[in-house]
Amino acid sequence: MAATSYMTDIVGVFGFPVAENPTGVMQNAAFDALGLTWRYLNIEVAAEDLGEAIGGLRAMRNFQGMNLTIPHKVEVLQYLDEVSVDARLMGAVNTVRRVDDRLIGENTDGKGFLTALRDDAGIDPFHKDFVVLGAGGAARAICVELALAGASTITVVNRSQQRGKGLVDLLNEYTPAKAKLVKWDGEYTVPTETQVLINATSIALYPDVDAMAPLVLDSLRPDLVVCDVIPNPPNTPLLRAAAARGAKTIDGLGMLVYQGAIAFKMWTGYDAPVEIMHKALAAEFEK
Ligand code: NDP
Repeated sequence: MAATSYMTDIVGVFGFPVAENPTGVMQNAAFDALGLTWRYLNIEVAAEDLGEAIGGLRAMRNFQGMNLTIPHKVEVLQYLDEVSVDARLMGAVNTVRRVDDRLIGENTDGKGFLTALRDDAGIDPFHKDFVVLGAGGAARAICVELALAGASTITVVNRSQQRGKGLVDLLNEYTPAKAKLVKWDGEYTVPTETQVLINATSIALYPDVDAMAPLVLDSLRPDLVVCDVIPNPPNTPLLRAAAARGAKTIDGLGMLVYQGAIAFKMWTGYDAPVEIMHKALAAEFEK
């Protein structure tokens, strides 16, 4: 008879606030589906306590890794043994995995987006022209992964020049993509050469569900792929307007599930049950 282990492998999210983070719903559904004795916990860690919390994670050896959310994604880099090339370029880590005694920082946000683009829309970013609305954390993660995957041009459209310039300079200096910045004041017209438009701002995030990104709607062509990072609710006014004009759309719920599925594989070594995770999260958002 095989020896029984009563030890639970633990992962979770360090954040502040953290009570409303729904990631555990999809990760725990995935652990249950695969019969794994793993649990995902929401752990409240204040900004000034992050170093101690990471020390605790190191000491508790069945902690297999973590997600990081506000305010820890940037600060956590100093406490890790290694950081992946893409996460270092972004300057932000959203996932930590343990390999023996080493803690390795990764960023799965942009990879989740790329998986949605490739698997759900059948689009390979290689040699394509992108417009990305926004220049915050989500936009940085998406732009870096697109650039590393061979995107030809990336036009960043952002209100704040300073934040936009930081992202465009990073892309031009460290990746092969050609990036340019457009200041976003008034309605933006999507250029005719653009193949994929991505809203990576927080416009239309719950509860502001009717908010619409200021765009010239007639520039949303049927041959454009239009993506939104907003996971809740996923069918944003932008995606509805794009679909009404015949464009292919990709929502932020898929991206959120895929970034979690990538973290799941990093932690457990198993392929994630993506459909089960998607169903669990969609049901949670509908409550
Ligand atoms: P940040 O605060 O870092 O950046 C927000 C960005 O949105 C900035 O570029 C900001 O512009 C822009 N913005 C916000 N409001 C407006 C507006 N009214 N008009 C024009 N621009 C606006 O946030 P994050 O990048 O971390 O997150 C952005 C969104 O991405 C969130 O809603 C989050 O839920 C979602 N997200 C989704 C993920 C997924 O897996 N689906 C993963 C990660 C994030 P400015 O610089 O001018 O202020």
